[in-house]
Amino acid sequence: MQSTRESWFSGAELPCQPAPSLHIRPRRLVLLGPPGVGKGTQASLLCQRTKGCHLSTGDLFRAAGSDGAASPAMRQALAAMQRGDLVADSLVIELVRERSACLKCEEGFLLDGFPRTVRQAESLQEMLLELNIQLDAAICFDLSKEDIVARLSGRRICTSCHAVFHLTAQPPSTPNVCDLCGSRLAQRDDDQPNAIRVRMGAYEEETQPLIKYYERAGKLQRVPAAGTPEEILGHTLKVLEKPDG
Ligand code: AMP
Repeated sequence: MQSTRESWFSGAELPCQPAPSLHIRPRRLVLLGPPGVGKGTQASLLCQRTKGCHLSTGDLFRAAGSDGAASPAMRQALAAMQRGDLVADSLVIELVRERSACLKCEEGFLLDGFPRTVRQAESLQEMLLELNIQLDAAICFDLSKEDIVARLSGRRICTSCHAVFHLTAQPPSTPNVCDLCGSRLAQRDDDQPNAIRVRMGAYEEETQPLIKYYERAGKLQRVPAAGTPEEILGHTLKVLEKPDG
């Protein structure tokens, strides 16, 4: 059975039953890279191989946005997200801390979109130390600015299961309908041109220093992110299979 990520979305400690792993290591991974580089798509593909749990903070905020009963702090977070700004560190860290049991998942985890600042990375390191868990690698996906804008503007997301499609690179079989669950596809508010500009700025200012952070920690692995999702997955698996990966 595939992990449902139910505890990640609810924040409660629910039993998780991951399927047997294919023993690809390392399995406790942070995925880094600019918005639109394809971290979410790669996380889904990698999860099918490693069976680790896909933990996306962006998915948490999108789920809270469609829930209708968001707290005042969460409403502020959703407004920041809509503009393309980063959500305040304190809230993101609190949300992940509430779900730190997910970091103990037997089959490992793929953190997608967290950490995004050095402060978040330091908090993650504290949580891992408390749980006596070692991060295996931080994978940084590299892509040119033009390719990033093309990917973001064509991206479509399932409004129900959050599966990711692309108008040209990965179109659904029926226009605007999710291949996996049949729900409607939509463009994310933060994939509009203005929000894309803000997000790129936030990435350069806040997230790029993380690359140095993980390089200093000896955890950084770089993967070229041009090509089809399967080609990029191939590059990633090669990096993960390296003895020092
Ligand atoms: P993503 O799906 O990872 O691209 O995240 C979408 C948006 O959610 C980001 O542009 C931010 O507004 C917010 N967000 C997600 N994760 C974080 C994080 N770790 N720190 C701050 N904001 C975040």
